[in-house]
Amino acid sequence: MQTMKIKYRDVDTNGQLKGFLFSKKGRIDEQALTLSDMTIPTERLIGCETRDKRIVIAFHDATAPGGAATVIEVYKPSVKKLEQAINRSASDHELLRRQQKLEELGRADEIRTSVCPSCDATIDLTGHTQTPECFCPYCGAVANEGVAPKERVKVQMCDSCGFFAFPRGITCFYFYFLVFFYGFRHQRKHMCSTCMRAEGWKMLAGNLIFILGVPVALTQLGRAYFGGSSISGGYRGLEAANVAARKGKAEKAQQGYNAIVERLGVSAVAHTNAGLAFARVDELPKATEHFENALLNCGNFTPAAKGLAATLAAQGHPLEDHPLLAPFRSDEASSDSPALGDSVAHPAAH
Ligand SMILES: [Zn+2]
Ligand SMILES: [Zn+2]
Repeated sequence: MQTMKIKYRDVDTNGQLKGFLFSKKGRIDEQALTLSDMTIPTERLIGCETRDKRIVIAFHDATAPGGAATVIEVYKPSVKKLEQAINRSASDHELLRRQQKLEELGRADEIRTSVCPSCDATIDLTGHTQTPECFCPYCGAVANEGVAPKERVKVQMCDSCGFFAFPRGITCFYFYFLVFFYGFRHQRKHMCSTCMRAEGWKMLAGNLIFILGVPVALTQLGRAYFGGSSISGGYRGLEAANVAARKGKAEKAQQGYNAIVERLGVSAVAHTNAGLAFARVDELPKATEHFENALLNCGNFTPAAKGLAATLAAQGHPLEDHPLLAPFRSDEASSDSPALGDSVAHPAAH
């Protein structure tokens, strides 16, 4: 890896920028990620997750058994470039560790990997059966032949409702007036169009009497209503089906998700959302079936495995002998890969 210089500012646990106006300097190279007050050797990097310009970097730390994390706001290079560099380095080291472990056990020939076409990270597929789709735990993309690599990374789990959708950043702006005091509140959230609409109307209602915030609320409402529908390609119709699912109309939502599966041939994302839709209305056997179908389409899709495990447990079924969960279980026992835990935390929504 070529040395990449970084311009950034630290973000505190409340989501506020630390320090004064000046940005700090750091860098990442083959050996380490160096920020002004800490150096993280690349073999300790677990992975990262981004929201707008902010990046949460998760790393192994002797003092924190589940991993530690730091949040920075990045000005140079682009946050996407830095995310890719961190994830590529983290995935290479994770694979090396896995390889060494299997070699020690005399099972080196079991290693199976794939390179993510969306972010270039190396995905460890050891123990997973070959399926038409493949999930990248680093950028969150599901590789599906019917969807372009750039489009795949746009489909992510919404921070607000938990459905797979096309989440975007939204600026929430509330102008408020109290008898002796006025000011404004402003924060960034990351959510899908459906959640954005709800937030936009809430903002408009909150702002109507104080005219300042109205233009912001109107812009957000416009983005929520028209931005979502401009999504074309294989996943079109995904957010419309999510709207039905959130209203408790699981059968109607299922029709929308089925249309995506028919168009793409396979879709773990659509099946997982259908599973979530049925779980919401307590139709657990149907939810289970959809989570199973998701894993048959994409064997390493962790969100579907979590959904399947949860619905099986809720119905009192044993998890141990479910064949689709077996690869995840062995992973959990033998590795601290970011594919399984939620070790990459979501940044504070500010
Ligand atoms: Zn990826
Ligand atoms: Zn949402």
